[in-house]
Amino acid sequence: MWKVGLTGGIGSGKTTVAKVFAVLGVPVFSSDEAGRRLLAEDRHVQQEVLRTFGPAVIKEGIPDRKALAALVFSDQEALASLNRIIHPAVRASFAAWAALRKAPYVINEAAILVETGIHLQLDHLVVVKAPEDERIRRVVLRDGTTENAVRSRMGNQATEAARTRAAGSVINNDGTCLVIPQVLAVHRKILQLATA
Ligand code: ATP
Repeated sequence: MWKVGLTGGIGSGKTTVAKVFAVLGVPVFSSDEAGRRLLAEDRHVQQEVLRTFGPAVIKEGIPDRKALAALVFSDQEALASLNRIIHPAVRASFAAWAALRKAPYVINEAAILVETGIHLQLDHLVVVKAPEDERIRRVVLRDGTTENAVRSRMGNQATEAARTRAAGSVINNDGTCLVIPQVLAVHRKILQLATA
């Protein structure tokens, strides 16, 4: 079974594209969702967070995502520490999940893949692209946040050029190109590669 990464910059439309793959019957694992679940439920992850960041980020016994987000927002070292706790747990969770799936390929959707080099452990990487202005517009609309906040989160991600260099397939979600035919073409390509 092939393991395929699906990534893209903030607001590129990764989750939207992942839903189309899911409609085609492809099992999709959301790394971002898994990270949130592990933080809320996994005792080991919670203990590590407490040990690293102290009681200020724990509320009623579990890590408070808002407090953690505020802490890592402008502190690169804190963000790296949090990622060192969460990412291995998410990887293990994905491996366990994939082992239970029966399909020619599965998708691991994640905002951060190229940045950590995790894509090198996968069989194929699909990158969703959209112009920066459009991505900002979408996230401001979706989250009710500010342009500056979105730009700041973009600063923690790889550049569009770095992602595209690592891509085996690219889906253009700029708002003018139709997405579903592109997903169908990539799906057929991966099926061919995975079953060759
Ligand atoms: P994040 O990195 O923040 O999780 P994402 O890459 O997963 O974002 P989505 O959540 O799929 O992106 O899309 C961002 C927003 O843009 C959503 O509200 C989605 O409905 C909207 N969107 C996605 N694609 C398009 C499109 N082609 N045209 C208009 N809106 C779109």
